[in-house]
This record gives sequence, C-alpha cells and structure tokens, in this order.
Amino acid sequence: MKRAIVEVVLVLALCAAGAFGWVTLRNGNQASSNLVELESKVKATEELVKDSEKKIKSAGEVLAVMNAEVVPLRAKALELEAVKAALVNGSLLQDVETLYKQQKVLSVERQLGLGALRLLTKGGSDPGVAEAYQKALQLSDWSSRKNTICAAQIGLAATGEKIKVMSECAIQPPAAPLHGEPAAAGHQAADTSKDHGKGGNGGKEDASAHAAPHWGYEGAMGPERWGSQFPVCGTGQSQSPLNIKGPFVKGRIGVTADYKVGPLRLLNNGHTIQVNVPDGSKLRVDGVPYDLVQFHFHRPSEEQIDGKPMEMVVHFVHKGAAGKLVVLGVLLKEGNENPGIKTLWSHAPAVEGPEVAPQEVVFNPGNLLPKEFDFYSYEGSLTTPPCTEGVRFFILRTPVNISRDQVSGFPFRRNARPVQPLNQRIITIG
Ligand SMILES: [Zn+2]
Repeated sequence: MKRAIVEVVLVLALCAAGAFGWVTLRNGNQASSNLVELESKVKATEELVKDSEKKIKSAGEVLAVMNAEVVPLRAKALELEAVKAALVNGSLLQDVETLYKQQKVLSVERQLGLGALRLLTKGGSDPGVAEAYQKALQLSDWSSRKNTICAAQIGLAATGEKIKVMSECAIQPPAAPLHGEPAAAGHQAADTSKDHGKGGNGGKEDASAHAAPHWGYEGAMGPERWGSQFPVCGTGQSQSPLNIKGPFVKGRIGVTADYKVGPLRLLNNGHTIQVNVPDGSKLRVDGVPYDLVQFHFHRPSEEQIDGKPMEMVVHFVHKGAAGKLVVLGVLLKEGNENPGIKTLWSHAPAVEGPEVAPQEVVFNPGNLLPKEFDFYSYEGSLTTPPCTEGVRFFILRTPVNISRDQVSGFPFRRNARPVQPLNQRIITIG
C-alpha cells in the first residue's frame, strides 16, 4: 500500500514536471518569436536612421553648394553697390555725355559703356539706357565679337526691353572663392551653363564654341523671327538682300579690287563657309581703300536679278578706316567647274567648328572675280543678324561659273535670307 502511494506520488510528480516543462517550452517559444519581432523592429529603425543620415548628408552637400554660390554672389552685389555709390551724384555720367556729344560717331564699345554708366547711375528704367544699348546693337557688325553683342543684349534685357538674349550669352555665375570646398559648386555651375546651350549637342567638348545656333534659315529661328533677338532685322528700312530690278540710276563710282595671295584660313561657322583673309587685300571705291576681311557663300544667291536668284553668291566683306562696311557680291552661275572653289571646297570643314589653316595652302581671292567689273550698287545691311545697316553693296553684273557638283558640294542646302523691301532706296549701275 505504502509502495502504491509512493508510485502515485511519483506519477503525479512526473506529470507536474511534464506540465511545467510544457508550459516553460511554450513560453520560450513565445519569447523567441517576440525576440524575432523585436529584432526586425530594431533593424527597421537602424535603416531609418541610416536613411536619415544619408538625407542629412545630401542636404548638407546641397547647403554647401548653395553657400558656395551665395558667398560670391554677395561679394558681387557688394562690388556693384560700391560702384553705384561712387556714381550716384551723376557728375561722371554728365562729363561723359558732354564729351560724347562732341563726337559725331560713337563706337560700339563707347555706346556700351554709356549704356552701362547710365544703368548704374540712373537705373534700368531710364530711357537713355535702352537707347544706348539699342545703338550699340545697331552698330555691331560682322566683325563684332560675340561679347559685344551679348553685352548689348543683356543690357537691353536689364532695362525690361522685350529682347531674347542669345543662348551663348548665358550669364556665368561668379567664380567660387579659392578657399573651402566650392570645387563641386564650380563644376555644377559649368554643367548648368552647358545645358543652357539647348540639348542635343551630342557631347561636344566645348560648349561655347558649339552652342546651339541662335538663328538659322528655317523654322523657329528662321529669318522672319530674327527681329525678336536682333531688332534691326525686323524694323530696319534699308535691309539686304534685294531683288535687283530697274529703273536704275547711272552712277560714276570707280571700283577696283586689289586682292593678294595669302595663306588659306577658313571655317564652317554653322551658317556658311567663311574664308578669313590676311591683311593686304583691298577694294578701292573712288580711290578710297577698304580692307578685305573675309568672304563667304550663300546658296542660292541672296540677291535676285529680276526676281531670279542664281545658284550661289560669294560676298566679299570689306571694312574702311571709319568702320564703314562694303560688300562686293559675285554671283555664281551653273557652268564649268571653278578651280578656286575646288581649292576651297577641298579644305572646307563639312560641319561647324573652329577655323582651319591647311598647311602650305595659299589662295588668292581674286581668283573668284570676273574680268568685267560692271555692278549694281545700293545701301543695305548685313544679310545675317544683327542685320546692321549702313553697308554699301556692289553686286557684279557678270557672274562666274560653278559646276553643279560644286554647288551640291557646298555643305549648306539653303542659307539665303529672303529679299527685303527696297523702300526709298535707289539702285545705281556702274
Ligand atoms: Zn553674305
């Protein structure tokens, strides 16, 4: 009996132990699943922290870049304020205006300077500011540098005039200071300005040299739109080219070309093939010399005779001592191969790019002239933006030959401005 009791107690004890073990195991399972959950929460929190750290870091970088841009801008603003403060009483502007009034003609650079001085002294809303910049833009010509045209366009835009500034004139942010980490900011700035040159440049290295064209011969940048960026193209009353037709007035002007052989330098500027001529070649108009600066081609000819263009024209651009421009036009008519053109085309770059100077190749622009020098003559303008007026044209009445293959070998299918209204002008013949 005693033994049976002991056995029962033992069984009960075993059962109790088993039950205790089961309960403990169950709790253990619960605890470990809690632990897994807790671990995943910790992990998620860690990731959140990491992500936040990343965000803070990139925000810090953005802030550094912004600071790098703001610091030099503040310095520029201070410089500008200092300049304005020095000019505020207007006596310098008065002096300059008095001085310039005594001069008949102001150069482009002086007009720009006058515009800037008025802008700084009187502010952009003064009508004299726009006037000076307008004049500067009107005076800029084929030989004007891009900087000059940009200065005039940016100046005009500052007065609130509705003018589109050429993409090449995008204002560069001021250089970052030498200390600190602004290298990144400087780089970024360079990239942004590249984007300004309009997409699709195909990864060319030099953004400024290959900036997207700001005018062209068709579409949104075609001749009828030139006036939005270059006011004279739209409002000028003596624009070129012309449809040359009678009645003519007989003139008595003597024109002779004295062109010299020299090293060949030429470029494809995106609008035409242009040959830059070394010093020494001259056109004489009634004995007055004009230096041949460059010549270039249009297809078809821009000038029309009795409503008809020829296959091409070459424009010889000359500049006189006082800056007067004289263009001699030679029409190119389909016929035999032209040996001079052959030389030029064999060295002319097919795509836009910088000037090339093929080694030991010389050229005489006189090779492209006819023997006869009878001409039509009129006052006109540049036939490309900025369409500056005050250009004297002599279009030779005798064309020279160009073969059909040579015409199609010219890398521009069409680069001719349409003919412009004659208005009050007279065409002389000589
Ligand atoms: Zn031309």
